[in-house]
Amino acid sequence: MGDAVKPQLGSVALNESSPRKVAYFYDSDIGNYAYVTGHPMKPHRIRLAHSLIMQYNLYQKMEIYRAKPASRGEMTQFHTDDYIDFLQKVTPDNMDSYMREQGKYNVGDDCPVFDGLFEFCGISAGGSMEGAARLNRQKCDIAVNWAGGLHHAKKCEASGFCYVNDIVLGILELLRFMKRVLYIDIDVHHGDGVEEAFYTTDRVMTVSFHKYGEYFPGTGELRDIGIGQGKNYSVNFPLRDGITDESYKSIFEPVIENVMKYYQPDAVVLQCGGDSLSGDRLGCFNLSMDGHANCVSYVKSFGLPTLVLGGGGYTMRNVARTWAFETGVLVGQDMDRSLPYNEYYEYYAPDFELNVRSSNMENSNSREYLDKITAAVIDNLRQTGSAPSVQMQDVPRKPFGGMTDEEEAELDDLDEDENKDVRMTEHRWDKQIENGAEFEPSEDDEMASANGATRTNGKKRNFTDFKAQDEATRSTNISPQHALASNGKDETGSDANDDTIEDIGTTEGQEKTEPVEGDKEDAAEKPQVDADGDVGMADVVASDEANIKKEEVEAVSVTKPDEDTEKTLEEKPPALKAVKDSADAGANQESVAEDTAAAKDVDKPVETEDKQPAPEAMEVDVKEKLDERADDKDVS
Ligand SMILES: [Zn+2]
Repeated sequence: MGDAVKPQLGSVALNESSPRKVAYFYDSDIGNYAYVTGHPMKPHRIRLAHSLIMQYNLYQKMEIYRAKPASRGEMTQFHTDDYIDFLQKVTPDNMDSYMREQGKYNVGDDCPVFDGLFEFCGISAGGSMEGAARLNRQKCDIAVNWAGGLHHAKKCEASGFCYVNDIVLGILELLRFMKRVLYIDIDVHHGDGVEEAFYTTDRVMTVSFHKYGEYFPGTGELRDIGIGQGKNYSVNFPLRDGITDESYKSIFEPVIENVMKYYQPDAVVLQCGGDSLSGDRLGCFNLSMDGHANCVSYVKSFGLPTLVLGGGGYTMRNVARTWAFETGVLVGQDMDRSLPYNEYYEYYAPDFELNVRSSNMENSNSREYLDKITAAVIDNLRQTGSAPSVQMQDVPRKPFGGMTDEEEAELDDLDEDENKDVRMTEHRWDKQIENGAEFEPSEDDEMASANGATRTNGKKRNFTDFKAQDEATRSTNISPQHALASNGKDETGSDANDDTIEDIGTTEGQEKTEPVEGDKEDAAEKPQVDADGDVGMADVVASDEANIKKEEVEAVSVTKPDEDTEKTLEEKPPALKAVKDSADAGANQESVAEDTAAAKDVDKPVETEDKQPAPEAMEVDVKEKLDERADDKDVS
């Protein structure tokens, strides 16, 4: 890497002062899975990113592992048995005989059945769980799984291209050793599945920055702050289109700084969805690669055990660039802005640069709006107090997430000012109906119809492309947009094509549920929450095989360019298969994982008393969960 150029913009600090041990999880099978033709989610992007990562020689500064895929039993630590059983048995060939189940589990349009679906989910979740397990045992300081970050998946339902929530599973693993886990989500979409899973506990704080307002999944308003024990431990920063690097940095850093100050987490999970990048096929933000990576750098600077995950990201070449660059940030490696030759080089035409530039699109987030939301969010954080593990007394609080009526009115004005092209924003809609004690499904329909949307099959929304509706009135026009209709074809009749940058309207496959706003704060209960007040975590860990995952992380040999590789590779044991891709690019092995032996040292009995009890809401019996992953490193 002759002329390594220091990252410019936003000065993405490399934090080289504190070298940290990075474990990177990659399974070369991941790129072989494909959603249905024309689907914007392409697992191939993980392979593109990996190829860049290898060609930049980042393997020299981290350990590379292929995790054991998550098993059915592990998945049911969060998901229901019947949902996982369905994922395991459904195939494109037999799916017609599971029509009822497809509806029940929201598998179909956004979340299609494809060959190897269950294995794909296993790989994604396995990497996040193993990453968490290694962090627990202090085998690394940072764990990276770009195949993870599938934040929309629900306990018993697929959503937004996500089937199994690897993030929730990874966090549950961390909670066995860590008192408090912070989840940060910079995907353009709300991290609803993760928020919902931990909505009632203070053991996990979820912080999501996302586009809000007529956008999938429709949740994540400022006022959604958690309930019961979890009150104020869910943080939502709703954003408008076109946010820039500077704007994003100006909200992200103070919010995270305050989160760290008040919450003092023991570990962090960072979801790095790449659909918040400028020019994303489904996104609407205007972040450059550096602006996106600044979040990674900033989170790293706190020096906490951190699990770094992928997520959305639908313009593959930009996702690959960004995740490769962010891997460099994590290992503290300067990276040349000219891309090294790699097997997917043609994807990066015409500039062949390690960069994603922002565009001239309008930033609909005014300074005033951002400042107000930031202040409200920090105000909420303050209410958690400075000793998060201590039971806080309930303090009389202001309605609407700590805002006074006056402040709320101001926000309404801003909302109106900044959404002139929108007939009815969700915020204003909520204002209209917030006094209702109950929400009938019909109200969702009313809102949808106020927005010109229609519904078919029962309560499920169709793909409704609000972006397309806004298009006529939008002042900037970055790229053509169109909507996918529920039959899988877009409304303009053309198929969403693979590698075009064109925007596909994001899809809505889930029931939009509105929290009830009111003076009685805990009435602000999300309908998804179970009758017993939690989000259904109670039965999650009840399953027997749930708890145990053998530590079968395979240390993977890494390859060095310039050698006759194909031959060497074929001679390797199966454990080395993970690097096949990189090897294909020309490489020779060089083992970097030093603790292979330790990694396989799985059958030691483990003391459990020092482990952190699981959140009450989850009713986890820690003792039952004898940790076969853990070795002798208990956390106190
Ligand atoms: Zn997304």
